[in-house]
Amino acid sequence: MLNDRIKITTGDITAFTGDAIVNAANTKLLGGGGVDGAIHAAAGSQLLEACRALGGCREGASKITPGFDLPSRHVIHTVGPYWEGGDHDESTVLASCYQSSLELAARHDVRSIAFPAISCGVYGYPIDAASEVAIRTTIDFLRSNDIPGEVTFICFDDTTYDAYVRAMKNQS
Ligand code: ADP
Repeated sequence: MLNDRIKITTGDITAFTGDAIVNAANTKLLGGGGVDGAIHAAAGSQLLEACRALGGCREGASKITPGFDLPSRHVIHTVGPYWEGGDHDESTVLASCYQSSLELAARHDVRSIAFPAISCGVYGYPIDAASEVAIRTTIDFLRSNDIPGEVTFICFDDTTYDAYVRAMKNQS
């Protein structure tokens, strides 16, 4: 059952014990605020070194590093779109973040992966629209891929959690 492979929880993504967590990074991949800062702080300085070697990342694309001091084995860094009102291809770029992260996960045998609400903090993407994109892209991917076996959306607050639950109801 597809629904059994998608979990929605609240909490801190840096505590996720699984194969990979996704970082809402920026194009330089050199750390930042929000979830990016929390992931770098928890992973330790080796993560920054590993990111430096990657030479940045385009919007909508994803790159993978080890998790270092994190409980998860890998970090998948993706760069979400900055919200500019919705008519600048934001939804296409956001879908590409989820798609490229899941493709990278499948290639690295990542069986369990956790996503934060990419672009929904400083980048200003409205949570209702973003959660629809996250759930739809993930459901489409899982329909044709066995790996990852399980995808968890880790919501930092109740408003985000409620939006994901609604998006899940709307699309399954
Ligand atoms: P962006 O720049 O892509 O908007 P942010 O880090 O500002 O990225 O926010 C993305 C989402 O991650 C927001 O919903 C924010 O509340 C959430 N967030 C921040 N810290 C954490 C954390 N430690 N675990 C999970 N989610 C987090």
